[in-house]
Amino acid sequence: MDALTDKQIRRSMVNCSRGEADRMTIPFDVTGLDWDTLDFLGWTDPKAPLRAYIVAWHDGEPVGIGLRVADSQGTRRLAGLCGLCRSTRTGMVKLFTARRATKASQEWNSLGMYMCADLACSKYARLEKATGDFMPDGTLGADERAAGLRVRVGRFLGEVLSAS
Ligand SMILES: [Zn+2]
Repeated sequence: MDALTDKQIRRSMVNCSRGEADRMTIPFDVTGLDWDTLDFLGWTDPKAPLRAYIVAWHDGEPVGIGLRVADSQGTRRLAGLCGLCRSTRTGMVKLFTARRATKASQEWNSLGMYMCADLACSKYARLEKATGDFMPDGTLGADERAAGLRVRVGRFLGEVLSAS
């Protein structure tokens, strides 16, 4: 993806207040990222672990969304499929919900998706081999998986931006 500045990231937030976007923690230096291997930027707020963020280019503009992480403290290590990168993960997939970006948006008017808990899907889409808790979609090559990931991130952002 094309590089973004800290300011662009904060300004891109469509479903957070300006104050929330200003206060959110960006726990990495954006100038040090390898943007070429990122399909989107995703992270959990280190100061508020039940908050997470996704930012990607969408129709030529950076679009960011705030997400709530479901606080599931289950001890079972279930296998789950990430809705973004389609990797199968054991105990590493969490439910994330995003409020829609409309003015009338209510807490209940939100979208949910199971995603890799660390939102590092761009990395997983490019891994070829299964490891302990990770299994790639073996029917596709890394380029195809990354392309599919970009499509699904765009679709999710589009749904957050849509009115219904
Ligand atoms: Zn994923």
